[in-house]
Amino acid sequence: MDPRYRQRMEKLLEGLGQAGRRRRLRTVTPLEGMEVERDGRRLVNFSSNDYLGLARDQRLRAEEAPGATASRLVCGTLPIHDRLEEHLRTLKGTEACLAMGSGFQTNAGVLAALLDPEIAGPAPRAFIDRLGHASMYEGLRTANVHPTRFRHNDLDHLEELLRKHPAEGSLRLIVTESVFSMDGDRADLKGLADLAEAHDAFLYVDEAHATGILGPGGAGLCAKPQVKGRIDLVMGTFGKALGGYGAFVACDPTARDWLVNRCRAFIYSTALPPVCAASALRALELLPELEAERAFVARQSERVRAGLRRLGLDTLASDTQIIPAVMGSDNDTLAAAQTLEEAGILAVAIRPPTVPPGTGRLRLTLTAAHTEAQVDQLLHAFGTLGRLGA
Ligand SMILES: *Cc1c(COP(=O)(O)O)cnc(C)c1O
Repeated sequence: MDPRYRQRMEKLLEGLGQAGRRRRLRTVTPLEGMEVERDGRRLVNFSSNDYLGLARDQRLRAEEAPGATASRLVCGTLPIHDRLEEHLRTLKGTEACLAMGSGFQTNAGVLAALLDPEIAGPAPRAFIDRLGHASMYEGLRTANVHPTRFRHNDLDHLEELLRKHPAEGSLRLIVTESVFSMDGDRADLKGLADLAEAHDAFLYVDEAHATGILGPGGAGLCAKPQVKGRIDLVMGTFGKALGGYGAFVACDPTARDWLVNRCRAFIYSTALPPVCAASALRALELLPELEAERAFVARQSERVRAGLRRLGLDTLASDTQIIPAVMGSDNDTLAAAQTLEEAGILAVAIRPPTVPPGTGRLRLTLTAAHTEAQVDQLLHAFGTLGRLGA
């Protein structure tokens, strides 16, 4: 590496360090249940997205091979991909589904393909919730479409923007998450579907944090009767509640065919590993049996929210298994994470630029593998924090 180039890297990294923004990888070793070991300390993990506790469940162990050997279009489409897509079609109630690599790859690649100038017209526009995931912004960036951001969950603002920017022969895409990854609140999907229909816009919804854990039978919030069939494209991932790795889109057959022909992230990438496809299918097959697990997570989440609010902490508009405990400044957030760690709790500090400045938080997640005693331990640890801060 050119020494001047290396120096520029080092200088910028040092700058990040001084601002308390330098990120470092820390190894976490899974123990039993939600316990992990980090830096020699035993901790209860409240930062995992394994909402149903399936990531290490024996029932998801698959016989399938680790590698697909080629892209789906070459010779990488295997019977397990067909079976997985068929199951997803039934679950989602859509005519077509496409299994893909990671959720990041899917959002980035699919959004870019939908905004392809050959189909989207000369001046397509993407209206995106301000808190949308980085992978969605990546797709817009690839397509060279400047995001038109609307205030978080503010449909009046979205409508104002839709009126201000008429279609004029180009695609208008509305992009949102059904459950927001950092705030744990929900989008008003019915309101969004109404707006999309009224304004002839294409509605794209990311269900990364709803798939498996929310909606009828864990099928996601887009499967609720008020909106089922009214969302043009739904994406979901296998890496969160389904405990594995990979993603999918559910859409109509024409859109699927377009992606197979034009989504570069799909075409030029090795197919989803058969072992991942098989685990995802096993997890999907298990979903109907996990009603009690989903109810447990919802109950414990409510307990945590009530407990945090009693301590005077802001949990924003969370009403899912994701609960932000807002601490404010970067330093307060880091100090709180440190204090919790000393009390045996792993709650990772989330700071800007992942969340807006001044809203540094501990992002807590509840899972079916937590015990009530562990939740008590969490609330007790937050109690000591309140007193320290006072
Ligand atoms: C995690 C996440 C993704 C990315 O999915 P991966 O499979 O982890 O790459 C996409 N969207 C949202 C909202 C997410 O939280």
